[in-house]
Amino acid sequence: MADWSYEGKTGPAYWDCLSEEFALCSSGKYQSPINITETTKTDLPLLEFGYRPIPLTIKNNRYTFQVIAETAGALKIGDEDYQLLQFHAHTPSEEGVDGKRLDMVIHLVHQNIHGKLAVVAVLLEKGEIANPLIETLWKMMPKTPGEPQQHDVQIDISQLLPEDRNYFTYEGSLTTPPCSEGVKWIILKQSISISAEQLTQYHAIYSDNARPFQPLNERKVFSSN
Ligand SMILES: [Zn+2]
Repeated sequence: MADWSYEGKTGPAYWDCLSEEFALCSSGKYQSPINITETTKTDLPLLEFGYRPIPLTIKNNRYTFQVIAETAGALKIGDEDYQLLQFHAHTPSEEGVDGKRLDMVIHLVHQNIHGKLAVVAVLLEKGEIANPLIETLWKMMPKTPGEPQQHDVQIDISQLLPEDRNYFTYEGSLTTPPCSEGVKWIILKQSISISAEQLTQYHAIYSDNARPFQPLNERKVFSSN
């Protein structure tokens, strides 16, 4: 894959020029992330997270850390199962709500049997509480890019979920090249807390890695409450 980054001549404004495979990054009409302003209240399916503890497998992919979570279970959206594949983080949050980005976002990437991706975004805001799972992840976060490393420690991914399961949803894309579309986005409204120290520790390894807001075009954002 062509070299891309978050700044300068290989930054988001030029992704489409770096490879023919990245054309959608500029021509796509269903791109992510977006700034959420107007929403339509709708009866949306409930989210049921059926995650189970797994051994931690984590890698540094140059842009952020990624936890491989293919055995961690599924998210049920209404009556449809989406298997968790992996999760990773961005700073600041890629999603905006009324123009405001939060300090960080975790993207939990799922896929159903038809290959459709559903990404759950958990927003993180600087606060007093240091999230226990983030505490564990940060200790194991590889400082340099490389292959995934498995550790002798169990993680419970449900510790990343807020209590309130209300959400926004819309149809979008991957937020990194090749910017493929057909991705169902689910943005949980309630944020969780990250400590100032944890944010600093992340930034010691990774620079800002949030793609700019993309035009909404003809799309609608739906809200569960
Ligand atoms: Zn992401």
